[in-house]
Amino acid sequence: MLKLDGVEVVYNRVALVLKGVSLTVPAGQIVALLGNNGAGKTTTLRAISGLLAHERGEVVRGRITWGDNSLRERSPDYIVRQGVVQVLEGRRVFEHLSVEANLLAGGYTAGSMRSSRSELKMIYSYFPRLADRRNQRAGFLSGGEQQMLAIGRALMAHPRVMLLDEPSLGLAPVLVSEIFEIVERLNREEGVTVVLVEQNAEAALQIAHHGYVLEDGRIVLEGPADKLRQNQDVAEFYLGLS
Ligand code: ATP
Repeated sequence: MLKLDGVEVVYNRVALVLKGVSLTVPAGQIVALLGNNGAGKTTTLRAISGLLAHERGEVVRGRITWGDNSLRERSPDYIVRQGVVQVLEGRRVFEHLSVEANLLAGGYTAGSMRSSRSELKMIYSYFPRLADRRNQRAGFLSGGEQQMLAIGRALMAHPRVMLLDEPSLGLAPVLVSEIFEIVERLNREEGVTVVLVEQNAEAALQIAHHGYVLEDGRIVLEGPADKLRQNQDVAEFYLGLS
């Protein structure tokens, strides 16, 4: 399991942004991390994936472990090699490269020398839209397709845990459902553990097993996804559901 215990993050040497976050992501589950703008969701993912940097005065305290391995203060490379992979924001694909070259770049980042053929085949089976456009420049893809490409690229690194940052951002509802369905299948069929950061609580709780709500750098609520969805008061107040 992936475990955070009393994690604090300081930005600019002074601003305490995460104020002791503890959460557990059991292997094989989808765990949603919900909360409003600025609550600290992205910061939590960056702390896990090693993307916070000392040089910029960003400090992480507390414990972050995946199984028996501590991930805190490890390089992003090391963390990817442990199978913990963050999906970079959808719009950050290499626009001038083809879809397939973008995917192959994901495998390269993982330092994998294995043949990429079987990975590509697997990814194209989940994302037929990417297969159709494999030779097209990534810059010509729609927002939803770029999000799919970002997920596909992360899959090339053989993730055991995938950290997803707001995959629904800016997408039409039909595409949100399509992408969430694929994430659920990747979890069920490939056994990928998922940490799903979302402002779209309704969509996230439909596929998550468990959810946590962050507010101002603290976990204020947690529970099984169906319980969170059923709790009307709580859902309206924290999650904007009605
Ligand atoms: P959003 O959905 O807007 O990304 P979030 O819940 O992911 O929200 P974070 O991005 O983690 O929130 O930001 C948490 C707080 O940390 C915010 O107050 C934000 O302004 C601040 N913050 C984020 N990145 C930095 C940074 N590089 N330097 C200083 N402060 C930052």
